[in-house]
This record gives sequence, structure tokens and C-alpha cells, in this order.
Amino acid sequence: MFKKYNVIVVGGGHAGCEAAIAASNLGSSVLLVTMNMTTIAQMSCNPAMGGVAKGQILREIDAMGGLSGIIADKTTIQFRMLNQSKGPAMWSPRTQNDRMRFSEEWRLQLESRDNIDFWQDTVNEILVKDGKAVGVKTSLGIEIPGDSVVLTNGTFLNGLIHIGEKRFGGGRAGEKAATGLTEQLISLGFTAGRMKTGTPPRVDGRSLNYSLMEEQWGDDKKGKFSYTDVETPKEQRCCWITYTNESVHETLKEGFEKSPMFTGRIKGLGPRYCPSIEDKINRFAGRDRHQIFVEPEGWNTVEIYVNGFSTSLPEDVQYKALRKIPGFENARMFRPGYAIEYDFFPPMQLDATLETFLIKNLFFAGQINGTTGYEEAASQGMIAGINAHQRINDQHELILKRSEAYIGVLIDDLVTKGTEEPYRMFTSRAEHRLLLRQDNADERLTPLAHKLGLVSQDRLDKVNEKVENANTIINYLRKTSIDKDLINPILVENNNSPLTQNKKMVDLLTRPQLNIYDLANSNAEFKVLLNKFDEETIEQAEIKVKYESYFQKEFELINKMKKMEDQMINPDFEYSKLNSLSKEAREKLNKVKPRTIGQASRISGVTPSDISVLVVHLS
Ligand code: FAD
Repeated sequence: MFKKYNVIVVGGGHAGCEAAIAASNLGSSVLLVTMNMTTIAQMSCNPAMGGVAKGQILREIDAMGGLSGIIADKTTIQFRMLNQSKGPAMWSPRTQNDRMRFSEEWRLQLESRDNIDFWQDTVNEILVKDGKAVGVKTSLGIEIPGDSVVLTNGTFLNGLIHIGEKRFGGGRAGEKAATGLTEQLISLGFTAGRMKTGTPPRVDGRSLNYSLMEEQWGDDKKGKFSYTDVETPKEQRCCWITYTNESVHETLKEGFEKSPMFTGRIKGLGPRYCPSIEDKINRFAGRDRHQIFVEPEGWNTVEIYVNGFSTSLPEDVQYKALRKIPGFENARMFRPGYAIEYDFFPPMQLDATLETFLIKNLFFAGQINGTTGYEEAASQGMIAGINAHQRINDQHELILKRSEAYIGVLIDDLVTKGTEEPYRMFTSRAEHRLLLRQDNADERLTPLAHKLGLVSQDRLDKVNEKVENANTIINYLRKTSIDKDLINPILVENNNSPLTQNKKMVDLLTRPQLNIYDLANSNAEFKVLLNKFDEETIEQAEIKVKYESYFQKEFELINKMKKMEDQMINPDFEYSKLNSLSKEAREKLNKVKPRTIGQASRISGVTPSDISVLVVHLS
């Protein structure tokens, strides 16, 4: 029934979809095997994409030819650029999305690829020959041959759903759990762990009283994730904010004795930064209210996502407590909130390419690696899809550096340090975050993606043109002085000290109170020049000038580390023979098999003196 595929992707979630697209972009024949064709790219929890650090990841995926950004743009119901009052490294695009359209759009995109085939089934065994993955076996007993396999099972492996004292098997509400695979992988020598996550109830928007809530609109100037010309909807939908109160908390507490969280029935660790409402009122007992974001699930549905009210308390307690929130007095529930426990595979079992150490040509991506979030999953899927293709074609693997991309930070953290609780990305995890901004992901990554064959020449040309145009603006600012008599009125208006003599425009722009358009308003020639370029190009030039000294320091730091990051270690290096290493270092190095001295230095338990020993030995 099946031909032999180059890449078999198991799971049609965010990781699986990006893995399939990346391998397809590179020319592989791909089979996407997923349990349910109608839930492709389902947003299991919040119908939203991006946000702090996650928005940057989406821009990076887009810059490398992935589709999560484009699909989020097409299905946006509200756009906001978060953290605009802070520096540009913190600006983070976030969209509220139409859940059903998002899934539909992903499916249409996948179906439009001639080299992607589909099969709805559950994979419960990896076919392995001579230490290599050679295909999959499904619950229908079908064996499908493949040169490589990418596993992206999400929350489905032995998934167990909890609502109060009730618990039942499932990968997501209404969907079966995937069984068999964990057990087979353990029998092959893998280690598995258990994590948990949760989701809030959904309610009927027709039953809410919005006049008791605060409106929250999107930005007037709507941005997008993709650097391409993708069209986004013209309109935006309103969201609302309301708050819990003491009475809500008291009602929720009535259910605590039946809470699977507090009775110890849930064993897995949950995401620290997405706590359930019962966790919040328990941990922050002094707080008399918690914020609730009331978010529509799409353009044409009345269903509402109650963001901030994730819970696994009994459904009747959820219902009673919800109705005590201002605006929710008559709320009707569509679906109860629930918690889910699932298996994951500690990611130190993976190489930085996301290939497993134990079985060649087998890759893991997404929630199966202990992460949480659509963006984290999607980016890993893309990298696994690329490396699966590269591996079977004996091509160079792709490992993004920590100084190149948030995706590099994410994967390096996972494979070098592992994770014991669901890992989500934050800007604080990236030591070079000043350089890893949402505005420059194209400049950072599109040339690399083009070299690999992931994006077209046309796309690369556009990025190069943008960089050249920004440089034209910067050069003008560098060589031109501003007339003090023309700029002084603007400076005084902005409570800024006036100039006593003409000054180079580039120096003036570093003043925080001035923007590039103020300069254009005092120099007609510069205004004509700016009018030739689009807003993104002008913003790039402005950011590069304003923060140049900070960026310079970052580049110097990266250069200092470069020697360590570039010094490669053979993956088969036998640390056990290097007696001058500490015992702990030998064990840890053997487990992580770092690719570079830089990566080795980040392994906990490997000391600077161990690194010196390694460096001396390698040189
Ligand atoms: P998933 O999106 O879970 O997709 C897995 C896919 O694989 C599914 O299509 C499934 O059908 C398929 N599949 C699984 N096993 C097999 C098999 N053996 N054979 C064939 N197909 C298979 N993230 C947050 O950031 N914050 C949150 O608060 C949050 N809450 C969540 C609450 C719940 C209840 C759930 C379920 C998830 C939550 N998430 C949250 C996580 C978020 O949904 C995931 O991080 C993201 O969807 C992971 O993407 P993925 O592609 O790895 O897996």
C-alpha cells in the first residue's frame, strides 16, 4: 500500500506540521501519519500565537521558510505588539487566532504540497534495523517503510485526563491517548518521564455580560509575524478583561479535596508559568483577585476561552465559581477545564540535531521533548524535519547557535541541560537577546535558510535589499549634520537640551527622546530619502543606530566565545579514557555528547578545569 518515504512524520500537531513542511521544502517525500486528520495543527489550549520570546521564535520560523507565522497571520482576530514601552529586544508580536481557521489553513497548506502524503492512524512501533529507524508500524498492523522518522506525539503518549476525581485516558479532550510507543522506546533503552498541563473551561459568549468587563482592543497599527506579503484580515475582534474575587476563590476551595492536584493523583510536574487557578489561589493566598482574559475563539463562533482560569477541579465547582466572576453571572459552559498527564522523553537523549543518540535516523520534536507551547514545538519540528532530510542525504546538519536564534537557545538548553518541568521560552534564557530580536530574524536566518535550499532566491534578494536600504539610511545619518536651528524647536518641545552647534544626525538619534521621523522633519533631503523606503526598513535603520553601542558589546562577547563555540568535538569521543577529567564530568559528557567545547562548558557539573583538560587534549 505504501511506497518507501524519505521522512515519516508521526503526529500532525505544530511540531509535526513544521517538520513535514521543512522536509518537503528540501525535496523529501513525506508521509504525515496522524491519529485524526480533522485535528491537524489543533491549538490544544489558548487560541493565540506568539507573545514574549515566542513571537520572536515565530519570526525565526518564518525567516526559515516555515509556515506557523504565515498561518497565524492569515487567521488573526487580534494583533498586539507586547512590551513596546521597553527596548526593541523585548518587543514581542502576539495574535489572538481563529482556532478552527488556523487548523483548516494548516491542512490546506500541507495538502497543497505534492510531496506530502497523509495517513490517519496511530503509530505504536518504530521499525528499527541495525540501530537505524527504517519505518513505522501502526495500530492497524500496517508497516510503512521510511528512511527516517520524526516523532511529534505531543501530549498523547499514555495521556491521562483529570477532571476532579474523574480520570480517563486521552491525548486531548475528545481524543484517544497513544499507547504502545513509550513502552517500545523504553524497551529500546530510552528513558521516559511524566509531565502535566491543564486548560481552562470554554463558555458561551452569548451568556456573558461584557458591560461589566474592560475592553481590550488590538493595536491600531496591525503588524504580522511573516516577512512575506501575506494578507491579514483587515478587522480585529475585541477581547475583554475581568477579575476573580474572594467569593470565586471560596467557591473554588470547596473543590480542593477533590482536586487531583492536591490529592496527589497527578504525579507529573506542570508548567511553572501557566499555573492553574487553584494553584494561584493556593500559592498566592494574599491576593484577593486574579486577572481573567476573555478571548473569542474565532470570527464566527460564540465560544469564549477563559484565559487565566485553567483548572482540573470538578466541573460543577468550575461552573459555580465561574458564575461569581463579574460578567459571568449567567455563564453557560461549553467544555470544562481539565488537566492532562503524559509521557515525555528527557531531551538529553538527543543530539543537537534532535536525532536520538540511541537510534539513528529517529528524531524527536515538540512536547515529547518536555517543552510546552505551540511555538517551541513548531520550531523543533522545523529543525527535526530539516535534519532528517539532511541526514538521509548525507548533507551537512543544521545546528543553530545560541547567538543566532532563540531556536538555537531552546535546543541547546534542552539537549545540554535537560528539563524536569515543561520548558517554555523566555527572553531571559537568551544571553544574546539584544541581537535576537523579532525585527531582524530575516537578516539573521534567511541567508542560512537559502543556503540549505529552504527559501527561494527571490526571498533572499528581498532580505538583502532591505539590509542595503537600511544601510543607505544609516550612511546618510552618519555623513550628514543637522542644522541646529531646524532641530532645536523639536528638541525643546521634547524637553531635550537644544544644540549650540550643528551635529551629526547619527549622534543625535541616540537620544532616547528623538525618533528618526523627527530628524526627517528637520531635513527635507532626508525626508525625501525616507519616503523611498517601507516602515520596516526605516525601523531597522533606526534600531541599528540607536542601540549600536550595545550591539557592538554583544558582538565582542560573541567573538570572545567564538573560539569555544567553534571548537568541535567528535560525537564518538571517548571521555571515559580521559582520566584527568572528574568522574562527574566524564559521566555527563558521555551522556550529552556535546558538539563543541562551548556546549560542553554549559553542562552542569562540568567545571572550567574539566574544560581546560578537554581543550588541551583536543589541541
Ligand atoms: P500536539 O499539538 O499535542 O500534537 C500531537 C499530534 O500527534 C496530534 O495531532 C496527535 O493526534 C498526534 N499523535 C500523537 N501520537 C500519535 C501516534 N502514536 N500516531 C499518530 N499520531 C499521533 N501550552 C502552553 O504553552 N501553555 C499552556 O497552558 C498549555 N496548556 C495545554 C493544555 C492542554 C490540555 C493541552 C493538551 C496542551 C497544552 N499546551 C499548553 C501545550 C500545547 O498544546 C503543546 O505545547 C503543543 O500543542 C505541542 O505541539 P506538538 O506538536 O508537540 O504536539
